[in-house]
Amino acid sequence: MTRRVLLIEDNEQNRYLATFLLERHGYRVSAAPDGAAGLVAATAELPDGILLDIQLPAMDGYAVARALRSVPALAQTPIIAVTSYAMVGDRERSLEAGCTGYIEKPIDPEHFVHTVERLSGWPRTEPQAG
Ligand code: MN
Repeated sequence: MTRRVLLIEDNEQNRYLATFLLERHGYRVSAAPDGAAGLVAATAELPDGILLDIQLPAMDGYAVARALRSVPALAQTPIIAVTSYAMVGDRERSLEAGCTGYIEKPIDPEHFVHTVERLSGWPRTEPQAG
Protein backbone atom coordinates (compact mmCIF):
# COMPACT_ATOMS: atom_id res chain seq x y z
CA MET A 1 0.00 0.00 0.00
CA THR A 2 1.39 3.35 -1.04
CA ARG A 3 0.56 6.04 1.49
CA ARG A 4 -0.27 9.47 0.12
CA VAL A 5 0.92 12.58 1.90
CA LEU A 6 -0.19 16.13 1.22
CA LEU A 7 2.26 18.92 2.01
CA ILE A 8 0.82 22.35 2.69
CA GLU A 9 3.90 24.55 2.62
CA ASP A 10 4.65 27.89 0.99
CA ASN A 11 8.44 27.55 0.95
CA GLU A 12 9.65 25.87 -2.22
CA GLN A 13 12.88 24.58 -0.68
CA ASN A 14 11.03 23.00 2.21
CA ARG A 15 8.52 21.44 -0.19
CA TYR A 16 11.38 20.06 -2.26
CA LEU A 17 13.21 18.59 0.71
CA ALA A 18 10.15 17.04 2.36
CA THR A 19 8.98 15.62 -0.97
CA PHE A 20 12.41 14.16 -1.70
CA LEU A 21 12.66 12.51 1.70
CA LEU A 22 9.14 11.09 1.67
CA GLU A 23 9.36 9.79 -1.90
CA ARG A 24 12.64 8.08 -1.08
CA HIS A 25 10.71 6.14 1.55
CA GLY A 26 8.02 5.16 -0.94
CA TYR A 27 5.38 7.77 -0.16
CA ARG A 28 3.38 9.49 -2.86
CA VAL A 29 3.49 13.22 -2.26
CA SER A 30 1.36 16.10 -3.45
CA ALA A 31 1.79 19.71 -2.43
CA ALA A 32 -0.13 22.93 -2.03
CA PRO A 33 1.47 26.35 -1.48
CA ASP A 34 -1.17 27.88 0.79
CA GLY A 35 -4.06 27.01 3.03
CA ALA A 36 -6.84 27.57 0.53
CA ALA A 37 -5.21 25.32 -2.07
CA GLY A 38 -4.38 22.85 0.68
CA LEU A 39 -8.01 22.60 1.75
CA VAL A 40 -9.12 21.99 -1.82
CA ALA A 41 -6.43 19.36 -2.34
CA ALA A 42 -7.08 17.64 0.98
CA THR A 43 -10.81 17.41 0.34
CA ALA A 44 -10.31 16.15 -3.21
CA GLU A 45 -7.49 13.69 -2.50
CA LEU A 46 -8.30 12.54 1.04
CA PRO A 47 -4.60 11.86 1.67
CA ASP A 48 -3.42 9.42 4.32
CA GLY A 49 -1.58 12.20 6.11
CA ILE A 50 -1.04 15.96 5.93
CA LEU A 51 2.11 17.92 6.72
CA LEU A 52 1.05 21.44 7.55
CA ASP A 53 3.34 24.43 7.67
CA ILE A 54 2.11 26.81 10.35
CA GLN A 55 3.61 29.97 8.87
CA LEU A 56 1.56 30.34 5.70
CA PRO A 57 0.38 33.42 3.80
CA ALA A 58 -3.21 34.63 4.29
CA MET A 59 -4.57 31.72 6.34
CA ASP A 60 -2.15 30.47 8.99
CA GLY A 61 -1.66 26.80 9.75
CA TYR A 62 -3.84 26.89 12.85
CA ALA A 63 -6.80 28.11 10.80
CA VAL A 64 -6.04 25.53 8.14
CA ALA A 65 -5.93 22.75 10.73
CA ARG A 66 -9.30 23.76 12.13
CA ALA A 67 -10.79 23.89 8.63
CA LEU A 68 -9.36 20.48 7.77
CA ARG A 69 -10.83 19.01 10.95
CA SER A 70 -14.25 20.38 10.06
CA VAL A 71 -14.31 18.07 7.02
CA PRO A 72 -15.77 14.78 8.29
CA ALA A 73 -13.65 12.65 5.93
CA LEU A 74 -10.51 14.28 7.36
CA ALA A 75 -11.48 14.07 11.00
CA GLN A 76 -9.09 11.17 11.71
CA THR A 77 -6.35 12.00 9.20
CA PRO A 78 -2.94 12.58 10.81
CA ILE A 79 -2.06 16.27 10.53
CA ILE A 80 1.52 17.06 11.46
CA ALA A 81 2.33 20.70 12.07
CA VAL A 82 5.71 21.83 10.74
CA THR A 83 6.89 25.16 12.00
CA SER A 84 9.98 27.27 12.44
CA TYR A 85 8.39 29.15 15.28
CA ALA A 86 10.45 28.59 18.40
CA MET A 87 7.83 30.18 20.58
CA VAL A 88 6.71 28.40 23.69
CA GLY A 89 3.09 27.39 23.28
CA ASP A 90 3.23 26.60 19.58
CA ARG A 91 2.96 22.92 20.22
CA GLU A 92 -0.12 23.42 22.36
CA ARG A 93 -1.66 25.78 19.83
CA SER A 94 -1.09 23.23 17.07
CA LEU A 95 -2.70 20.46 19.08
CA GLU A 96 -5.62 22.67 20.09
CA ALA A 97 -6.19 23.48 16.42
CA GLY A 98 -6.51 19.77 15.71
CA CYS A 99 -3.00 18.74 14.71
CA THR A 100 -1.86 15.24 15.62
CA GLY A 101 1.74 16.20 16.29
CA TYR A 102 4.42 18.72 15.72
CA ILE A 103 7.81 18.86 13.94
CA GLU A 104 10.20 21.77 14.24
CA LYS A 105 12.04 23.33 11.32
CA PRO A 106 14.63 23.19 10.04
CA ILE A 107 13.78 19.74 8.72
CA ASP A 108 16.32 17.20 9.92
CA PRO A 109 16.79 14.89 6.91
CA GLU A 110 18.09 12.10 9.15
CA HIS A 111 14.94 11.84 11.25
CA PHE A 112 12.16 13.60 9.37
CA VAL A 113 10.36 10.62 7.82
CA HIS A 114 10.62 8.48 10.91
CA THR A 115 9.21 11.29 13.01
CA VAL A 116 6.30 11.69 10.59
CA GLU A 117 5.68 7.94 10.79
CA ARG A 118 5.86 7.85 14.57
CA LEU A 119 3.51 10.80 14.99
CA SER A 120 1.09 9.41 12.41
CA GLY A 121 1.06 5.91 13.87
CA TRP A 122 2.40 4.42 10.64
CA PRO A 123 4.93 1.61 10.34
CA ARG A 124 8.53 2.68 10.10
CA THR A 125 9.98 2.49 6.58
CA GLU A 126 13.56 2.58 5.38
CA PRO A 127 14.86 4.55 2.37
CA GLN A 128 14.57 2.69 -0.90
CA ALA A 129 17.64 2.05 -3.00
CA GLY A 130 18.11 3.85 -6.31
MN1 MN B 1 5.94 28.91 5.59
